[in-house]
Amino acid sequence: MTKENYTATVLQYIPVFYIIWSDDLLSASEINVVTNAISNDSTLSNEDKKQLKTWLNINNPPKNQLLKSWKQLITNSGVKLVEHETYPLTAFSQKVAIHYHHNIPFNEHIKKIEINLGIQPNHYNHLFDVHIDLDKKASQYSAKQIDKILKGDHADVIDSFRNVLSDPIFSWKVRRDKEEFRNHVLKQVEFLADKGYGAMAYPEGYGGANDMEGYATIFENMMWADGSLTIKFGVQFGLFGGSIQKLGTKKHHDKYLGAAGTAELLGCFAMTETGHGSNVRGIKTTATYNKNSETIIIHTPGKNDNKEYIGNAIHSKMASVFAQLIVNGKNEGVHAILVPLRNENHELLQGITVEDNGYKLGLNGVDNGKIWFNQVEVPKENLLNKYGTILGNGDYYSEIKNPNKRFFTMLGTLVGGRICVARAGLGGAKFALTVAIKHALKRRQFNDSVKIQEDLLMDYPSHQLRLTPLVASAYVYHITLDKMMELYCDESQPDKRQIETQVAGLKSIITWYANDAIQECREACGGKGYLLENRIADLKGDVDIFTTFEGDNNVLLQLAAKGVLSDFKAEFNSAGFSTVLKLLSSQLSDKLSTINPLYTNKTDKDHLYNPKFHVHALEHRTRRLTYTIAMRIRGYIKKGIPSYQAFLKVQTHLMTLGKAYSTELAYKSFIEHNSTIADLEYKALFEKLGTLYTLHEIRKDASWYLEQGYISGNKSKAIRQRVERLCTELRPHLDSLVDGFGIPEHLMTAPIAN
Ligand SMILES: Cc1cc2nc3c(=O)[nH]c(=O)nc-3n(C[C@H](O)[C@H](O)[C@H](O)COP(=O)(O)OP(=O)(O)OC[C@H]3O[C@@H](n4cnc5c(N)ncnc54)[C@H](O)[C@@H]3O)c2cc1C
Repeated sequence: MTKENYTATVLQYIPVFYIIWSDDLLSASEINVVTNAISNDSTLSNEDKKQLKTWLNINNPPKNQLLKSWKQLITNSGVKLVEHETYPLTAFSQKVAIHYHHNIPFNEHIKKIEINLGIQPNHYNHLFDVHIDLDKKASQYSAKQIDKILKGDHADVIDSFRNVLSDPIFSWKVRRDKEEFRNHVLKQVEFLADKGYGAMAYPEGYGGANDMEGYATIFENMMWADGSLTIKFGVQFGLFGGSIQKLGTKKHHDKYLGAAGTAELLGCFAMTETGHGSNVRGIKTTATYNKNSETIIIHTPGKNDNKEYIGNAIHSKMASVFAQLIVNGKNEGVHAILVPLRNENHELLQGITVEDNGYKLGLNGVDNGKIWFNQVEVPKENLLNKYGTILGNGDYYSEIKNPNKRFFTMLGTLVGGRICVARAGLGGAKFALTVAIKHALKRRQFNDSVKIQEDLLMDYPSHQLRLTPLVASAYVYHITLDKMMELYCDESQPDKRQIETQVAGLKSIITWYANDAIQECREACGGKGYLLENRIADLKGDVDIFTTFEGDNNVLLQLAAKGVLSDFKAEFNSAGFSTVLKLLSSQLSDKLSTINPLYTNKTDKDHLYNPKFHVHALEHRTRRLTYTIAMRIRGYIKKGIPSYQAFLKVQTHLMTLGKAYSTELAYKSFIEHNSTIADLEYKALFEKLGTLYTLHEIRKDASWYLEQGYISGNKSKAIRQRVERLCTELRPHLDSLVDGFGIPEHLMTAPIAN
């Protein structure tokens, strides 16, 4: 068949038809889009319309011979596809038609097809033997604008902090000697303290700005300079200073907080012991009150009871030591006590032994060490006594009578640190993604013999599928963590229990995500990703441990899940277990009533892209898991199994619930934020990222959704296809999306990213 067989107007549709029939994704609703466009196109004669519509029969698609002739026609035109045109396919079709006929106008109906079917050059550029003009500016989105959305209300703080990081002291270089590395990191920490960043979250009276939210944002940005810097900074100002601020009272603030914020007083946070890590309540270090001398004696009783892995242990003058407080012979539970470690000459004080932990997988710029106390005496004023104190008469007193509640209240004050660790992990993931995507936008490997140049890595669908959902997740988690910190800092909400539960789960899923993302980016960069100079290697070593410190992820997930269960605790107590189960069951069946075959089989784009479907799917999973756990626990308790054992029996189930709940929370926070984006184009971009995040999450857990009958096999397949499709749709915007993270050029030192 030659061009003589087609009118100019029909010819203009040929590239579109060629693409859609080469695209296995064509669904009934998409055929509808094309049919409507043809019906409404007044440039087509009735004959033309009839001819075009015969090529839209899904049961009788155009034969291979016809497809080949179309391809020939397009190839012979010699027209080049220009990817960065606003409507590349419509413009391409017009140029092909103009090659054979003259004066063909731009066709608005073809444009509608291009837009409504979301056909991106990436879907079809492999179909044509044409040279593709690649233009990095193919995206209509400005990275600056995206960065502005992410920075939100903290733009001023973030911008000036990024500027500060351009000082030569933050120039990145390979540092392998731990002593040199630690000393350099210490200088960086002091430099930032001098500029007021250390005290940022403290009250104004102590040199601070009372800006915990700003502190969290700079924490993330700091990761782009160095992981060790970030963690040492966090130990000094967040953990050591934070424990004084949150667990201490005015006398401690007056005496120590200002000096902690300026790094004049270097300190550490000594909670973990060799024998007790995750189980903080089980620590063995004792703090025994001596009524006669009005002092507290800190002591390491046994071989494994030394403090372990304590950050800043080598540089510190003082430690915030967690120990069992014993007053009048009674153990009042874990409390924090300030214990001086060294004198002005940096010599260890009597009774104190410190040992270097040595080289680690990462974070070698942080001086972690072990600490032993041998009957070390400190004044009773050193007890950080906000939640429990020793009175003038030598008795112990706390407003919180229940020791369990007191313990969790004290630990709860450290939740801000968990948000910061998750943010730092996210910062690491963003950096690795930027390196991997910038590399993939330049690096070419393989081609088919007719192409002039090899293909870009980023144009491989597999590469898109590996990296794009990770970019989408970075956006979702950024917004979620911002929201969490805002809620945490909201003084009008004094009860922080819910936030604690939520942060426990989010810290887990986000630090795991960060590790997965960094690993994927390393592989996506091939051998180059393995070079230290490209920074991903260090990020791998540094971010790895974020899954363990500030609460081990597996332990935290159980905490999160128990929090979800205890949302029903009031009813458990008042109405009894059965009533609560009935309530849960009825909520679930309300939801289940919509799970009819029509719903489980619904595969059209509108449904799969609809946030209502996403929320429904995520909520359903959380509810179902909550209900089934509650049923199981009830069964065990009925059989007389003690509750600790019952919870152990459902432990893996609990962790699944913790993850499900956190994912739901993240997505809901994200879409809530999207509704505040004024610019409709950017709002659409963020919505697309949210859609990709959720469909990808559902896809990852498709086995569960299929087991539960929530989705049919067809729907599962459609979700997989949509995830791939969204990845290609976002392909032209990836460069803007990673630039939108806002990593300043002076910190992006990886040669493969430049
Ligand atoms: C680089 C680094 C810096 C650190 N800095 C500090 C610091 O400054 N101050 C400080 O006090 N501490 C610090 N720590 C200690 C850190 O907080 C602990 O490592 C952490 O709490 C975990 O304790 P653990 O290492 O003893 O692991 P464990 O508690 O022994 O856990 C080991 C494994 O068992 C699993 N596990 C444990 N309990 C359970 C359970 N109930 N259910 C299921 N699985 C379970 C965990 O998931 C984990 O995989 C640091 C650690 C590192 C590595």
